Amino acid sequence: MISRIDLRGAVGDPRDLLPRAELDIETALDRVRPICEDVRRRGTEALIELTERFDGVALTDIRVPREAVDSALAALDPEVRAALEESIRRARLVHADQRREDTTTTVVPGGTVTERWVPVARVGLYVPGGRAVYPSSVVMNVVPAQEAGVASLAVASPPQAEFGGLPHPTVLAACALLGVDEVYAVGGAQAVAMFAYGAGPCARADMVTGPGNIWVAAAKRLLKGVIGIDAEAGPTEIAILADDTADPGYVAADLISQAEHDVVAASVLVTPSTDLAGKVEAELAARVPATRHRDRVAEALAGRQSGIVLVDDIDHGLAVVDAYAAEHLEIMTADPHAHAARVRNAGAVFVGDHSPVSLGDYCAGSNHVLPTGGSAAHTAGLSVQTFLRGMHVVSYDRAALAEVAPHVVALSQAEDLPAHGEAVIARVGAGPAGGAR
Ligand code: NAD
Repeated sequence: MISRIDLRGAVGDPRDLLPRAELDIETALDRVRPICEDVRRRGTEALIELTERFDGVALTDIRVPREAVDSALAALDPEVRAALEESIRRARLVHADQRREDTTTTVVPGGTVTERWVPVARVGLYVPGGRAVYPSSVVMNVVPAQEAGVASLAVASPPQAEFGGLPHPTVLAACALLGVDEVYAVGGAQAVAMFAYGAGPCARADMVTGPGNIWVAAAKRLLKGVIGIDAEAGPTEIAILADDTADPGYVAADLISQAEHDVVAASVLVTPSTDLAGKVEAELAARVPATRHRDRVAEALAGRQSGIVLVDDIDHGLAVVDAYAAEHLEIMTADPHAHAARVRNAGAVFVGDHSPVSLGDYCAGSNHVLPTGGSAAHTAGLSVQTFLRGMHVVSYDRAALAEVAPHVVALSQAEDLPAHGEAVIARVGAGPAGGAR
């Protein structure tokens, strides 16, 4: 089922040799372009038709009634409610610590630059719900946005035929727990377009965040600029760096737990140990047939995006996982903290035997909306910072401006933009540097 890729002694860029999905975002762009264009032109009418086509639900209204959000919470299983509340509590602890204070730098006496952290005004939060449902993604989206101080929050999640065309009741209940009552029963690329252009009752948003499948990730890439986006948090990935001290049962369980998300999910083990590789293969063979979503898991593990990658040693393994830049990286080696400290590229790192990714998916306090497809090399996961913009506020008095005026004039002349210098001379004259009038 899962294939082996032998990189021992390999030269060149490991990125060319590592497993990656066949259906990449570039390919999906052609599919989502007409969907987004349709929503831009025809708004709610297009959303209703696309929802019927992709979700098999005939909507009369894209907005979920407030009563449906409230009654989902009233009907929520108490155990699930307690788990969601604990997830929210831990996420708040971590995300509250990410808040930033404004800073003021006195550049010269009378001349200051303040960096003011200002939240985005309105955000659309995407909560997936095609193959699986993700009330946990409500928590992961909403908590950092609220901690950042975003004033207007709307959630979109695909309607479910079996729940009367509403998003999954646990998703609605999670919205209610977090005090979000603007919810739309819209999924996929069309939900991203709804937030980007506005449609019917949904006012356009400044930013859309949240994970989703390849179509959601492609729509975010396509509409970036029309609307702000977070990372391209597409089909999930796990890389596990492990040596022969790792428990093969833990490794196999974690590879399976990511494969459960999606047939295009990626599960990758990187190890210098052929012994561990063999034991993990045996564990997979025993566990996969017994797992609930065995067909989806088997397809994901057999896909070209998954594999067991053999490396020369842990140093080589670290180079390989950095090149892969996984959404989730687990380290199960003899010295996991030291090895984790050397990682440069990953959405999030899970250290040692008792920090599995599924802890981070729900209740570690960390965020699970993380960059995929190698974008962890340049982009971070969702955080309070995602929703804040640092705005420079510049305040110079006359003397401070006069002191620097000759330098401004010199640079404006060097750029052949003399009117720039003239705007300063108009205020303080053309005296020498330091010659305040
Ligand atoms: P989803 O909500 O992302 O997608 C469902 C929607 O996709 C449907 O509503 C439909 O409109 C659209 N769609 C389905 N088939 C289509 C097609 N052929 N063409 C165009 N649009 C189509 O739900 P999902 O499918 O269950 O996917 C959830 C994804 O989110 C998984 O891949 C999972 O790995 C990922 N995820 C990622 C993270 C992360 O942080 N990276 C976190 C959680 C989940």
